[in-house]
Amino acid sequence: MKIKFFTLYPEIFPGFLGYSLTGKALAEGKWSYETVNIRDYAFDKYGSVDDTPCGGGAGMVMRPDVLGAALKASYTGGRLVYMSPRGKPFNQAKAHELAGETEISVICGRFEGIDERVLEAYAIEEISIGDYVLTGGEQAAMVMFDAVIRLLPGVLGNDESALEESFEDGLLEYPQYTRPIEWEGRTVPEILLSGHHQKINDWRKEQSLTITKNKRPDLFKKYLDSKKV
Ligand code: SAM
Repeated sequence: MKIKFFTLYPEIFPGFLGYSLTGKALAEGKWSYETVNIRDYAFDKYGSVDDTPCGGGAGMVMRPDVLGAALKASYTGGRLVYMSPRGKPFNQAKAHELAGETEISVICGRFEGIDERVLEAYAIEEISIGDYVLTGGEQAAMVMFDAVIRLLPGVLGNDESALEESFEDGLLEYPQYTRPIEWEGRTVPEILLSGHHQKINDWRKEQSLTITKNKRPDLFKKYLDSKKV
């Protein structure tokens, strides 16, 4: 997968994507990235990329002529997304969908966002990573691609299967334990030490159901609805 970040802060990348599993995958060429500095497409000697909002109000807005010029020069096809609090919420299903792409360009907003006309002109898909407002789209893009990259073929090892993780079957994950078997008077549930795989699977499923029901009743309802014929 090739990722192109349109940004005012190219030096942010790869950031934490350069570490651990995603960093190893980058070194192995399982994904690659390029940054496009939007400021390189400014028209004046000050490198202006923003202006005041038409109609008044706080903050600044990224100019359509500057961002448009950056896209015209450097967007070469593939999926084009804009990280935006008003976008469609990002989730594990979307992560799988994006992991199937070979090329994704992502616009990282700043200020109060970008001029609406650019979104219209390029029919850009808006994606949100949650119902809160960040300072910039770079953080959002990196969080999103962290979830996407780990789903690319060969990124997770055999012992790190994505299939058993939270959200994969519509439920949250069961509790995890490791050695020592006893820690500060607390022991690992006996069933996990039994070596009885079927019973362990049953226990984990039951835990997943209980945890999802208690922590995320919205997800639990969706799960139950999906099981109805
Ligand atoms: N004025 C915007 C609003 O109220 O929706 C917020 C702009 S925010 C300060 C600046 C940039 O951060 C946005 O253009 C977007 O790229 C990014 N951003 C902020 N929160 C985000 C979120 N929850 N998901 C995705 N991107 C986000």
